[in-house]
Amino acid sequence: MYVWGMTESQLQEIADNLGVTIRFGNPKGRALSCTLRWNREKTPDRYRHMSISYLGERNTNSVCFHGHFDFMYEVFDRNPDARIRTGLRGNINYHGREQFFEKVPAVARIPLGAPIMGGFPSMIESCDCGAFGYGIAHDIPSEYRQ
Ligand SMILES: [Zn+2]
Repeated sequence: MYVWGMTESQLQEIADNLGVTIRFGNPKGRALSCTLRWNREKTPDRYRHMSISYLGERNTNSVCFHGHFDFMYEVFDRNPDARIRTGLRGNINYHGREQFFEKVPAVARIPLGAPIMGGFPSMIESCDCGAFGYGIAHDIPSEYRQ
């Protein structure tokens, strides 16, 4: 993902607090480039993305929806005017905190599964966090709920 309006040390701190690994790529203009990775030692029971297909379940080292939600929540908490662009499904842009909370419910429902499976699982179902909210550390604030 690309993040505007934050420093590398701020993003590192957020990732450390959540217990996920962050890798930085080459910055693009004023945007920092980073990728979150699941950390087996720090969060064995959460934030691990799982691919499910005809071939069965396949665990990956990607961070699931909940981990990304909690990470972005913290970014916008520190800077409500930050901007995030994810490479997911042809680029999703969040320009600021308000837009993040408005758009994220639809992103959670994006189907990742095959059409024959009715699109199951969706983004928010592709893990076994056991969380029913959007994130584990955080949820959508009530003023943004529809
Ligand atoms: Zn999850």
